[in-house]
Amino acid sequence: METLSVIVPCYNEEEVITESYSRLKKVLDGISSYQTEIIFINDGSKDRTAEMLSDIAATDKQVKVLHFSRNFGHQPAVTAGIHYCTSDLAVIIDADLQDPPELIPELIETLKREQANVVYCVREKRQGESIFKKLSARMFYRSMNYLSEINFPLDTGDFRLIDKQVMDEFKKFREKGKYIRGIISWIGFKQVPFAYQRQARFAGETKYPLGKMIQFASTAMLYFSKKPLKLATGLGFITVIIGIVYALYTLIGKIVGYTHALSGWSSLIILIVFFGGVQLLTVGVLGQYIGILFDEVKDRPEYIVQKEENIEKK
Ligand code: UDP
Ligand code: MG
Repeated sequence: METLSVIVPCYNEEEVITESYSRLKKVLDGISSYQTEIIFINDGSKDRTAEMLSDIAATDKQVKVLHFSRNFGHQPAVTAGIHYCTSDLAVIIDADLQDPPELIPELIETLKREQANVVYCVREKRQGESIFKKLSARMFYRSMNYLSEINFPLDTGDFRLIDKQVMDEFKKFREKGKYIRGIISWIGFKQVPFAYQRQARFAGETKYPLGKMIQFASTAMLYFSKKPLKLATGLGFITVIIGIVYALYTLIGKIVGYTHALSGWSSLIILIVFFGGVQLLTVGVLGQYIGILFDEVKDRPEYIVQKEENIEKK
């Protein structure tokens, strides 16, 4: 019998865990042709999420739980889920029910019908999210496509169905800063879209405040694109041309006599500020890349598992 895992990252989700589990359970009970399990990853929650997940694991052996030693973030949590998954198929889904679990049978059906390796879910509408969130997400997916060397599907989160072949390839990725949807796109094989409506959060608040969103976007950009470096070079090039033109103007002016040394104050300040800005900006871009090199070279683990529940030792 084929096997199916559902990977659910959870961070401070006490308000949704019970509902999330019962809706998932109902859906999985309806899928009789697969042996199913749920892998919850407790990403260092500070509320009652840990106890609630342990209680579920104690009564239901189909539920595996990984407890992180602290909060490592959504992407490391999903990564751990994939690392621990040994099934033929896996669904990645958020705990907050924004992505309806009831779609899972349709995802499996699409995968089988299309003989695909990945079915990725494209958000057609997003309900109950702020204008700012929708706008920033829209901008993010479009600028990622402009910046990166490969084309990512637009408006697609991590909610998707992936098969064993893709998971096996994913497990070979050694990079610490994982932009999972990008990596899965990059892996290739046959990937097909599935349109759906993103719901409002069942309860609680987003665990992706602005700071985390910026962090997420910059990981995505730095790991998948060298374009910022090219843009920095381009900017440097333009300023050199401006510099040469201005130098010629000054030099000729000196010879012909249309510039006066004392009247040069404004232009001097403008040039200092402008070149100073360009230099800091380009050095900053370089610094970002050196920063991720530093992180990668240290080779620290991406996450630390403090406790496992219902997971047999390999
Ligand atoms: N999440 C996590 N660790 C974090 C932040 C979020 O495991 O540090 C989980 C969270 O519990 C949820 C999923 O990642 O299951 C997506 O987070 P959220 O719904 O808050 O993000 P949004 O949908 O608002 O982008
Ligand atoms: Mg959400």
